Amino acid sequence: ASNNPNQPEYLQAVTEVVASIWPFIEKNPKYIESGILERLVEPERLIQFRVSWVDDQGKVNVNRAYRVQHNSAIGPYKGGMRFHPSVTPSVLKFLAFEQTFKNALTTLPMGGGKGGSDFDPKGKSDNEVMRFCQALMFELHRHLGADTDVPAGDIGVGAREVGFMTGMMKKLSNSAECVFTGKGLSFGGSLIRPEATGYGLLYFVEAMLKEQGQTLAGKRVGVSGSGNVAQYAIEKAMHMGGRVITASDSSGTVYDPEGFIPEKLACLMEIKNVKRGRVADYAHQMGLTYSEDGKPWQYEMDVALPCATQNELDGNDAEMLAGNGVMLVAEGANMPSTADAVAIFNNVGILYAPGKASNAGGVATSGLEMSQNALRLGWSREEVDQRLQDIMCRIHHTCVEYGRDETGKVNYEQGANIAGFVKVADAMLAQGVC
Ligand code: NDP
Repeated sequence: ASNNPNQPEYLQAVTEVVASIWPFIEKNPKYIESGILERLVEPERLIQFRVSWVDDQGKVNVNRAYRVQHNSAIGPYKGGMRFHPSVTPSVLKFLAFEQTFKNALTTLPMGGGKGGSDFDPKGKSDNEVMRFCQALMFELHRHLGADTDVPAGDIGVGAREVGFMTGMMKKLSNSAECVFTGKGLSFGGSLIRPEATGYGLLYFVEAMLKEQGQTLAGKRVGVSGSGNVAQYAIEKAMHMGGRVITASDSSGTVYDPEGFIPEKLACLMEIKNVKRGRVADYAHQMGLTYSEDGKPWQYEMDVALPCATQNELDGNDAEMLAGNGVMLVAEGANMPSTADAVAIFNNVGILYAPGKASNAGGVATSGLEMSQNALRLGWSREEVDQRLQDIMCRIHHTCVEYGRDETGKVNYEQGANIAGFVKVADAMLAQGVC
């Protein structure tokens, strides 16, 4: 903690991982003797820089941007860029740390990184967003490369922002090599990438339920968020026969006891993605119950999918979920559940999948985008989707293998953390102290 003052999110993520793998490490002292843990919790590099840009009124604005290059033991740094006022070194270090384990779980050769800025795209014109992205790339470009560091999108960074950054990168480097994933289809993007995190989450949930002899058909599903991950989680949950009863944003929650249907989802997507509106607008248009500042967890449901942001589901929410009959929580967002919430899930026997396993479909498909770019080929929708399903099944299998206790119960958190750690730690050991 003294090495990372004022970095609560980073300390939270490290504490959670180390606590869950500690019994395993004690049985395998080679990881202690080689200083692997001390090395793993120190990012290889953290770049901080100024971004100056001019708004539509001609005023100069200054934002701060960062790239955390956390670990490259198994491949180039890989992880998204986040544009949100809450972005700090602590938030990005926690995300980069988690990303290292997540990427290892995918079995694709990708190290872990994360970046972003405190720039808020909300309320900015397309031109302002473009000027900001271009100004950011003036500095970031020198730290990227297809075999060095390959960013992607995250909160506040969608297809529009990735397009602007890719365009400037190409200009500055005089090269079209793959240094962003989540690109538009016409310039090297992969089919299924926009859908991948949400779809992958549901493939993981399906595998968890299958392990219990169950399916999603007829189950009530609560989703938080209404962005990229939430939208495609809702779509796939509907396809699997689930009844999705909530969506939300940072202003409130919409409740729909009848459940989403494709027409309603299309309306939500139009409001969020095209009009850049709010969930309240959607609720109003559909005549649905909207609760300002309410959370999805207040309603009765079987499956809960937090898909918004970190620490959005705390101990009180977990108590509420337990009382409302939930049997399974799988994270679409990164670290949405606090440590208190996870302890309650474990105590009351709610099946719990941590984001580094259940939301790995996004980065896995980014890995597939990198492969297609390197091959100068584009795979069909079916081919990418099939590979995504295979990867999510493999991650589930690995979690079960490392997370099953003597009684036969599976602790997915432990399974994901140990499996990811072993992969990264063994690669670091083999490459010596560097
Ligand atoms: P988006 O920016 O597309 O959507 C984020 C959504 O979360 C918005 O609806 C936003 O609402 C909502 N939100 C933000 N803060 C809160 C809050 N405090 N309470 C309720 N809702 C909130 O981001 P993504 O969908 O891409 O990312 C969501 C999460 O998934 C993040 O944790 C991200 O790191 C993680 N993730 C994303 C991947 C991807 O492929 N996109 C891959 C793996 C993980 P508002 O409009 O009000 O801000």
